[in-house]
Amino acid sequence: MAEGDIRLLIDASYFVTAVLFIFGLKRMSSPVTARSGILWAGAGMLVATIVTFLYPGMSNYPLILAAIVVGTIVAWWSGKRVAMTDMPQMIALYNGMGGGAAGAIAAVELLRQNAVHETVPLILAVLGAVIGSISLSGSLIAWAKLDGRINGTWRFSGQQIVNGVLFLATLAVGAYIVFIAHGHASPAIVAAFFGGALVFGVLMTMPIGGADMPVVISLYNAFTGLAVGFEGYVLQNPALMIAGMVVGSAGTLLTLLMAKAMNRSVSNVIFSNFGASGDDQQGEIKGTQKPAEASDAAIQMRYANKVIIAPGYGLAVAQAQHKLYEFVKLLVDAGVEVKFAIHPVAGRMPGHMNVLLAEAGVPYDMIYDLEDINDEFKEADVAIVIGANDTVNPAARTNKSSPIYGMPILNVDQAKQVYIVKRGQGKGYSGVENELFYADNANLVYGDAQKVMIAMIQAVKSLEGGH
Ligand code: NAP
Repeated sequence: MAEGDIRLLIDASYFVTAVLFIFGLKRMSSPVTARSGILWAGAGMLVATIVTFLYPGMSNYPLILAAIVVGTIVAWWSGKRVAMTDMPQMIALYNGMGGGAAGAIAAVELLRQNAVHETVPLILAVLGAVIGSISLSGSLIAWAKLDGRINGTWRFSGQQIVNGVLFLATLAVGAYIVFIAHGHASPAIVAAFFGGALVFGVLMTMPIGGADMPVVISLYNAFTGLAVGFEGYVLQNPALMIAGMVVGSAGTLLTLLMAKAMNRSVSNVIFSNFGASGDDQQGEIKGTQKPAEASDAAIQMRYANKVIIAPGYGLAVAQAQHKLYEFVKLLVDAGVEVKFAIHPVAGRMPGHMNVLLAEAGVPYDMIYDLEDINDEFKEADVAIVIGANDTVNPAARTNKSSPIYGMPILNVDQAKQVYIVKRGQGKGYSGVENELFYADNANLVYGDAQKVMIAMIQAVKSLEGGH
């Protein structure tokens, strides 16, 4: 094939890739079509990967193939065995790898000593390198925090000044590489430049509190997209540019939505300490926790008119979604109106509860977002909280000294009766006590969520059997 024809084929394939990416992303916006969306986008990735082999002047085929084989095996193996509850850690790692890959492209570009470098691609290479490196090291810290390998936050006085100076110094070295060395800086200077960006990523993420991790992870997702887009320009590769733009804009939107869900600005997330550990800021909580039997709670729900369920992280830990839906079907059969209320940051990743409930087969029209259902709690006879804690903590509304103050919560406390299913005295992700558990209208049903749901199912079934 003539080189012109090959170029045409490559460009046409990249167009197909772009269409597949956008189509896939569109399908990912609803849980009904999300699985197929991932397959469509994956097909786009496959086309882009295959077409790379046709690039004129391409060499190093054994190395490329070896990288693909190693990457595929690791991704397949880790994707198969990762627990649902560990998915956010995996997303953080994959984000970091994307940022690192963009940084690596920039490193190759900046170390090509015998090439003539043009200014615009150089600027983009340097910017992509900074953003990609921050995303790599920041995501690794986010992974370690989510995985419980790094606990708490790490702060010292003057930290923001140190961070600011380091960031400006890194940018200054980048400017030197572009405008003074014209892309021919020594490897030591290039290494110092990358080192500065990587250390900044660590310093920027270490002080951020646990409950803010979802926002941080989607921010790094946006960073990675941006870095990949810039490096796509450097390589003049349309598939990389498009993939980068799609990931960058989707990540930015997700970041803004997550920050909005927590009622905070993105800069507030990054520069202030939220949800680090609330114990010292907490006032006394009055009242006592009143335990209740699963069977009593189940029977009360069986005779209620309206029940709203607030699921949280503990539902995922217990893998109780199937039993929960079995219980819900019994209630619906008995004429009870049942709705699920989903807090945007319930669980440990965006959409976590939606995924769990979809897996159990819960129909989408039973599932409501916070803003659509919050006014209905006051009409509910029973609100049942299953493995949720921070997302139903009324301190977020009233207690200005609480680290979760300002985050919108599900108004479960406004129901006539609240049941909270949890194993014991465990706190939520942000580590603060929950005054809801001590409220007059609240009772705790202690136990693993799956065991409690089985007991509730039995209670309702034995009631039906008895009639
Ligand atoms: P949560 O505040 O983390 O509380 C979970 C509760 O579940 C705990 O109090 C725990 O109490 C209980 N639990 C754990 N295992 C259980 C089991 N097997 N059976 C029954 N209960 C169990 O959960 P949430 O209300 O869903 O809030 C999510 C938190 O995670 C927020 O602070 C959010 O900011 C943060 N976060 C969210 C994301 C995201 O993207 N969605 C990502 C990272 C962090 P016991 O130990 O007493 O059972």
